[in-house]
Amino acid sequence: DHFLAAAEQLNPEINAYITLDPEGARAQAKASDARRAKGEALPLDGLPLAVKDLFCTKGVRTTAASAILKDFVPPYESTVTKNLLQDGAVFLGKANLDEFAMGSTNMTSHFGPVTNPWKRASSEQRLVPGGSSGGSAAAVAAGMALGATGTDTGGSIRQPAAFCGITGVKPSYGRCSRFGTIAFASSLDQAGPMAANLADCALLLQSMAGFDPHDSTSAQRDVPVYADALNRGVKGLRVGIPEEYRPDTLPAEIQALWDQGIAWLREAGAHIIDVSLPHTQYGLPVYYIVALAEASSNLARYDGVRFGTRVTADSLDGLYEASRRAGFGEEVRRRILMGTHVLSSGYYDAYYLHAQKVRTLIQRDFDAVFADVDVLLTPTAPSAAFAQDEKPSDPVQVYLNDIFTVPASLAGLPALSLPAGLNGEGLPLGLQLIGRAFEEETMFAAGRVLE
Ligand code: GLN
Repeated sequence: DHFLAAAEQLNPEINAYITLDPEGARAQAKASDARRAKGEALPLDGLPLAVKDLFCTKGVRTTAASAILKDFVPPYESTVTKNLLQDGAVFLGKANLDEFAMGSTNMTSHFGPVTNPWKRASSEQRLVPGGSSGGSAAAVAAGMALGATGTDTGGSIRQPAAFCGITGVKPSYGRCSRFGTIAFASSLDQAGPMAANLADCALLLQSMAGFDPHDSTSAQRDVPVYADALNRGVKGLRVGIPEEYRPDTLPAEIQALWDQGIAWLREAGAHIIDVSLPHTQYGLPVYYIVALAEASSNLARYDGVRFGTRVTADSLDGLYEASRRAGFGEEVRRRILMGTHVLSSGYYDAYYLHAQKVRTLIQRDFDAVFADVDVLLTPTAPSAAFAQDEKPSDPVQVYLNDIFTVPASLAGLPALSLPAGLNGEGLPLGLQLIGRAFEEETMFAAGRVLE
């Protein structure tokens, strides 16, 4: 009741939820109460969560923040949300996002932008919450949920967590099933938890993760007990500081909080080692070729025929065209066109194939560095949250905000963002930890020292 009341009161301004489901939430909470009364409590019993509106939820509208799915009610449940429900979680509603998770501002949603609950000390301007999981981050930051699910293709859990002053974990690629999560870029998409702190994230990830035969890229590996890693400490841990994440343009405030994090880890017994990831500069162009190529293929299914918005026309081609024109927003169209372009004959070798090769070089950079260090520490984003009306009109300028988050995604590595402190305007900044594949525990142990 408390969280539903908070959501009803705050959502008109913050717009973190596309759909609130008070009836569903109350029914789940009642079932939780009954289990607890019998002494049969499940690990997440009664915990109220926001679910990013990219996870299919059986019987509850799932839109991907797109007009093309605005009335879509899935007949099945995603594996991640099924896992959470089986552990007793309560779903308050579906959280807003950038359309099809394409963005880092939450301003491309068909259901309107999300407003960051934080404000600058000096102005009342509305700030972006980051994206694409901006609704999830804002819901947690504003006290409209205890935790949330997010998805991260190139930073969509980590960057909004940083902008909203909360914690977000992108696990290793393959750790959480993609089954029933609406696809953006299949070789990059990964679900993960967002919450106030690492302990809450560890609890949620425990439930979300695990092998799923419905997803061919799901990892057949045991899920460690993440809570056990939290207090392991960092004595003797080797922490790498990649020089490429320290461009001249990095604001001094971010630099200072990064240095403070380095000092805390050193004081706690970690060895700090300067490292180099020389292909980092190619991360953004490679990401924006690979992700868009995959998106153009994944979004071909929205044709107005099988499900979603249909605009009738005289011919089949006309129906496709009219439905897609009515259903997709500007950024999604841009990405489908660019993705189609880089895959088209004559351009495939120059762009897509080339990008795949450079992706391998980026992965090899990480392999080399992780022979010498156990975890990497970097800033999460090159800026704090900016005002909605400061969003650059040039899309490439917006893409630049992903500079620190996309490399780990391209390499399939686990990475998390945790609050690092506030800038001079009182806005939160985040620090990122990147771990070896399937070693989320190391990030949890190091992160705990920085909380
Ligand atoms: N901001 C990135 C993009 O626009 C990442 C999005 C995501 O991780 N889903 O593609």
